[in-house]
Amino acid sequence: MPELPEVETTRRGIAPHVVGRRVREAVLRRADLRWPIAREIADELPGQEITAARRRAKYLLLDAETGSAIVHLGMSGSLRVLPGDTPPRAHDHADIHLDDGRLLRLHDPRRFGALLWQPSGTLHPLLAHLGPEPLSDGFDGAWLARAAAGRSAPVKHMLMDQRVVVGVGNIYAAEALFRAGIHPGRAAGRIAAARWERLAGAVKDILGQAITRGGTTLRDFLAPDGAPGYFVQELMVYGRAGQPCRACGATLRAADWGQRATVYCPRCQR
Ligand SMILES: [Zn+2]
Repeated sequence: MPELPEVETTRRGIAPHVVGRRVREAVLRRADLRWPIAREIADELPGQEITAARRRAKYLLLDAETGSAIVHLGMSGSLRVLPGDTPPRAHDHADIHLDDGRLLRLHDPRRFGALLWQPSGTLHPLLAHLGPEPLSDGFDGAWLARAAAGRSAPVKHMLMDQRVVVGVGNIYAAEALFRAGIHPGRAAGRIAAARWERLAGAVKDILGQAITRGGTTLRDFLAPDGAPGYFVQELMVYGRAGQPCRACGATLRAADWGQRATVYCPRCQR
């Protein structure tokens, strides 16, 4: 599943090819993905210039004068910039043709992605209640400490709550908690201030590294075939239950606190 680093890498990959271009036509090969595809993509966007390619959480926004096209990659989506006459393959659901003869193509085999519209001056409901971006200055230990006050739920739940911070999925939550030495099942309201600072720092480091590594795959956005390779990072705990901790050698444990299973080191994480 594309996580925040993959979405940010996608944004960086397509931005130089779409920003400043005028949309000639949008070809939609189906009426819906996860939700109905916004009609404005085909009816309103053509003729307008794309003035920016932004990211908010895991949503990509292509800004035009009267609104923004919102793209979500879902479980299996990807975007490519291709020559305008490239024949569509299976699961190529939407093409945005640009005035330089190329097109931006959305490919999504599982169709959990989305193609929506946000009129200028409004905020789409999906974007309305999101917490801070993890790599922004607004996300730090003090913010986490305030968000945690009085919470008895496990800290891992809180870290994956999009109102607390956006874009920290299961993999990155498990890895950040390991790096910060915090047990994923610990009650959020019972974590000391200094540990929140470490956790915020760990989230920023891990996501930042993944984005940096993604930079090496940017050329793929102009390739006609293949999916962008997701970043192979050395994972310390995610997917490693029963294996030895890379830091201390203890056997990593799996646990489930009513949400998705998580893996942690019983010795390194308290
Ligand atoms: Zn350990």
